[in-house]
Amino acid sequence: MQKILQYILPFELPRTFSDNTFNERYEEWDKPSRQVQISVISCLTALLYIAFTFIDTSSWAPEHVQLLMLKSHLLIIAPMMLGISFLAYKRRFYNIVMLLLAISPVIAMLSHAYIASMLNNSPPFLAEGYLCVFWIFIVSGMTFKFALISATLSSIILLISGYYFMNLAGIYAIHAFWVFCSFSFGCLGALIFDRSRKAVFVAQQKLHRLAITDPLTGVFNRNHLDNVLSQEVGRCRRYNQIFGLLIIDIDKFKSVNDTFGHAAGDQVLQQTAQVLSQSIRENDTLIRWGGEEFVVIALEVDKSSLICFCEKLRKKIEGEDYATVGKITVSIGATLFRESDSKEALISRADKVLYEAKEKGRNITVYT
Ligand code: GH3
Ligand code: MG
Ligand code: MG
Repeated sequence: MQKILQYILPFELPRTFSDNTFNERYEEWDKPSRQVQISVISCLTALLYIAFTFIDTSSWAPEHVQLLMLKSHLLIIAPMMLGISFLAYKRRFYNIVMLLLAISPVIAMLSHAYIASMLNNSPPFLAEGYLCVFWIFIVSGMTFKFALISATLSSIILLISGYYFMNLAGIYAIHAFWVFCSFSFGCLGALIFDRSRKAVFVAQQKLHRLAITDPLTGVFNRNHLDNVLSQEVGRCRRYNQIFGLLIIDIDKFKSVNDTFGHAAGDQVLQQTAQVLSQSIRENDTLIRWGGEEFVVIALEVDKSSLICFCEKLRKKIEGEDYATVGKITVSIGATLFRESDSKEALISRADKVLYEAKEKGRNITVYT
C-alpha cells in the first residue's frame, strides 16, 4: 500500500513519526488549519440541514415523520453542528470538538435509520448515508483516526438498517456496494490528505531549520536570535527567570585570515562554534551573530554565575589548539536581562561592554 502510494504521489510520505516530540509538533502545527476547516464546514452543514426543512417531503413521508425530521434537524443536528462550529475556534476545546464531530454523524445515521424504519420506501435517505461517509473522511476536518472510527460506525449502521428496511435482496446488494465505494474512496482520500499534510510539515520543518542555521558552523544564525529572545523575555516576565546574553568576539581574527588564509579562518570559526556548543548547557542557545562573533543566551543565571560561565568559555577557547593557526583568544561582553529592556537595548548593552573588553586589551570578560 505504502509503495503504491509513494508511486502515485511523487513527494515524501512519512507513514508515522518515530519521534514523539515531532508528532506533537506536527499536531500543534496541524491544529489551526483543522480548526478553521471544522468550524466552516460544521456551520455550512448546519445551514444545509436547516435548508433541508424547506424541501417538500409530503409526497413520500407521512405527517408524523415529517414532524420528526423537522424536529431532529432543527432541534438536534443543526444546533449541534453550530455548537461544534463555535467551539472549534477555541483551541482548548479541540479534543472535545473532535469527539463531538466524530459522534455527530453516528447520531445522524441512527436517527436516519429510525426515520427510515417508519417509511415504506427508504431511498430518499440513501444518498445522505453515502454522502455522510464521504463527509466524515474528506470534508469534516476530523483527523484520520477519528474519521476512521466515525465512518466505520456510520457504515455499519447504514448496512444494518439497509438490511432490515430494504425488501429486495438485489437492492440491498447495490446499497452495500455503494457504502463500500463511499468508504473506500473516502478512506483512501483521507489517507492521502493525511500523508500529504505530514509531507508539507516535514518540508516546512526542513526549510525552517535551514533558515535558522548558519551553513558554515551548523549552529543557529541571527534569524533565530529574535525567536529565542522573544521566548525568553516572555518567560522572564511570567516566571521571573533571569537570563544572560553574551557576545563573544574572536580577537584579531582578521590577522588569522591574513596570515593563514580564509579557509583556515573558516576552520577556526567551525572549531570555535563546536567548543562553545559543547561548553554551554542544554537549554542555553548558541548563535553565530555575524562574522567572528557569537551570541550565547544563558538561562537561569545571576551576576556571579554569568561571569563564571563567561570565564569558563573564554578559558576553554584559550586552551584549545587550532590545527594550522595554533592559539586564539576571545573577548566577551556580558549582561543580564532587565525588566525594562527591549531586545535591542539588551544586545546594545552587551555590545558596548564587548567594545570595552577590546579597549582593555582583549581576552577578557566585561560584565555590565
Ligand atoms: P578585534 O579583535 O577587534 O575583534 O579584531 P578582528 O580582526 O577580529 O575584527 P575585524 O572586525 O577587524 O575583523 C573581522 C574579520 O572576520 C574580517 C572578516 O574578513 C572576517 N570574517 C567574517 N566572516 C568570516 C567568515 O565567514 N570566514 C572567515 N574566514 N572570515 C570571516
Ligand atoms: Mg567583530
Ligand atoms: Mg574580532
